Amino acid sequence: MATVINNSDWQSSGQIIENIIKEAGKKHICPKCGKEDVPCEITLNGVKRIVYASNCDCYEKEQKAKEEQKRKEWLQEKFKNANIGKRYIDITLDKLEAMGTENIAAAKKYVADFNPESGASIHMIGEFGNGKTSEGYAIIKALLPKFNCVSITWNEIVTRCYYAKAFDSSETIDQILKWLAQFDLIMIDEFVINIKDDKEINLATALFDNLYKDNKCFILINNPCDIVDMKKVPRLGKLLDRVKDQAEIFTFKHESYRGVKNA
Ligand SMILES: [Zn+2]
Repeated sequence: MATVINNSDWQSSGQIIENIIKEAGKKHICPKCGKEDVPCEITLNGVKRIVYASNCDCYEKEQKAKEEQKRKEWLQEKFKNANIGKRYIDITLDKLEAMGTENIAAAKKYVADFNPESGASIHMIGEFGNGKTSEGYAIIKALLPKFNCVSITWNEIVTRCYYAKAFDSSETIDQILKWLAQFDLIMIDEFVINIKDDKEINLATALFDNLYKDNKCFILINNPCDIVDMKKVPRLGKLLDRVKDQAEIFTFKHESYRGVKNA
């Protein structure tokens, strides 16, 4: 245990240094590796003194390991907050590239250029099972050490908002939208709006108004047929026009290879 040297009113800085030298004049043995401190001779105000310095890097190593562990826990917490499914934990853009997933070069560029203030967004459009969601997760994973990201399906948003209303939850729709807005990147998967439900259309409009107003970055994932359906509703058509303005389109044309390559 380190001796605590406190300053007090009557101590001059000279006395503090004297106390430090006195403390350094004690020889310690490292409790980890058992190495003894090595003596060093110093001259202070013309007086020769012996002080001891540690002879191993156990302390530094321990501090580094603690930092590393803290960082690991912090990243795990970020993963949890990002709502990344267990199935996707190990996915990276490099792995997807090796599997032949489309738009990887553009995805890597998006990650490299990412600026949460820019509003830069992606609209992934393609048939079921050709790697859109995996690529979205891989982008989030690449950004997570530096940024806060979240992945959520449209259905999850709707369920949460309806729950808020139906069960008089303390969480309001406004709070849910604010919660989403705190992230640097929001990925909305399976963006299929029930076009027969006015409440869902209102919710989608409110959400995208907020994203647009705050210049938020998002990744939106769609099947082409969903877009055809949504365009039948004028308000959703307008929403999709805005998305088109803000987001780069990643088209996925490959046939589904789900099951074949576990994508
Ligand atoms: Zn040691």
